[in-house]
Amino acid sequence: MLKKMINPLVVSAIALLPLMSACSSDTSKTESTSTKTAAKEAPAAQKSAPVEAVANDEFDYKLEPKQVSENVWCFFGALDMPTQENGGNMSNNCYIKTKDQWVLWDTGASYIYAKQAYAAMSKIADLPVKTVLLSHEHDDHWLGNNYYKEVHGANIVGPESINKNYHDGDVTRMFRILAENQIRGTKIIPVDEWHDGSYKFNIGGVDFEYMSVGNGHSVSDYFLYMPSEKAIFAGDLVMNGRITSNRDGSVMGQIEALETMNTREWTTMIPGHGFIIDEKADDESIMYFTLMRDRVEEAMDNDIDSIGIVEAVPLEEFKDKKMYDLLHALNVSRAYMEFDMGLPEHEVIH
Ligand SMILES: [Zn+2]
Repeated sequence: MLKKMINPLVVSAIALLPLMSACSSDTSKTESTSTKTAAKEAPAAQKSAPVEAVANDEFDYKLEPKQVSENVWCFFGALDMPTQENGGNMSNNCYIKTKDQWVLWDTGASYIYAKQAYAAMSKIADLPVKTVLLSHEHDDHWLGNNYYKEVHGANIVGPESINKNYHDGDVTRMFRILAENQIRGTKIIPVDEWHDGSYKFNIGGVDFEYMSVGNGHSVSDYFLYMPSEKAIFAGDLVMNGRITSNRDGSVMGQIEALETMNTREWTTMIPGHGFIIDEKADDESIMYFTLMRDRVEEAMDNDIDSIGIVEAVPLEEFKDKKMYDLLHALNVSRAYMEFDMGLPEHEVIH
């Protein structure tokens, strides 16, 4: 198994100290698990799951699952921002087959997306979805939740931050951008259950580890590890083929999360965005964040200020990646802020 090591930070002790203390509380990991469950019981399934692919005038996502290992199929979204052209289908999510149910990793950008994903998967195995696990709070990854709750009675496991930061009726990015026949039926519902640290469980004979890594890409990130298939579901802690959006992220939290993932034995890794799923899956993410760390620190040591930092750290190695022009400058500015003053208070921007 390829073990990926990330070189130690080469900065002055003065620059490093406030940084470490800023990160330690968010990314501290413990093997002990605390588990919390929402007070309300999940409602029972109201009706049986539909199998028709596209109803009436609904947007047709034309979803085709790709089998990535023996019991895992994933849907891969476009390397783009959400638009009406892609219907918000620009992130990855996966179906994991167990003896008596599908276990899901993320649910996509809308109710209609989720319904069509299930219709495609039910042709592979006619199993219900009883467990949904979420990677993080960005809405391209979980607005399909209410389909699986309403139709399958699924238990939704995700970050508690979704319950704090998103409420029924909030107009999130997808509600603003998508067309009516794409977002129709989508409703923000709370997660039922959340966990800190390493949460290990077995469903239908399959072992899983749902691992919390604190503030990496977002305010609260998780990855899912499936030892039987040596598979890691990385969420947005890993992207390839495109630049990440570090708008809520932490360079140091990301590096630590990538290191934690690489302590597990894996051969397949599913990024939150991107198509590379073999042992090279996280190479771009490791390179982007280590270069970002080293070059922003170096520029700061050379007295480059917050105005000059974007020009000083172009990371030209990534300039041909998708979304570089849109996101890289913002990522550099946030890295400067993190290294200068620590991460700001999480601002929820729907
Ligand atoms: Zn994200």
